[in-house]
Amino acid sequence: MYEILTIKSKNEFELIDITDKVREFVKRNVKNGIVIVFTKHTTTALIINENEHGLLQDIKETLFKLIPKRGNYKHDYIDNNAHSHLKSIILNTCLVIPIINNEMVLGTWQRIFLVELDGPRERKIIVKGIEEK
Ligand code: ZN
Repeated sequence: MYEILTIKSKNEFELIDITDKVREFVKRNVKNGIVIVFTKHTTTALIINENEHGLLQDIKETLFKLIPKRGNYKHDYIDNNAHSHLKSIILNTCLVIPIINNEMVLGTWQRIFLVELDGPRERKIIVKGIEEK
């Protein structure tokens, strides 16, 4: 079983907490097993971390420090968003989370974020449940 989440970002860079949407899917579909969360885009990422305002700012600033918006990027000659692709490759495209009794096994502070790196856009996230035999 799977579901496609449609997420509309509002900003060029955005950390969007999608934990509750994934949790809803898991409650309805998987008792024990895993859930795979996959982004279909080359300028987004998925991360698990804490939803704390200061930390979200720190994540943004760190990513822009590591990979500045402007550089001598070849891809910018055709698409002007090389930095978004480059940020994506140092993060994750796919997450796997264990499920026990219809609940994701996440730590107290762990939340699932879609990282928008080239918004605003409409994004599609695949959520696929696998039940253990
Ligand atoms: Zn591009």
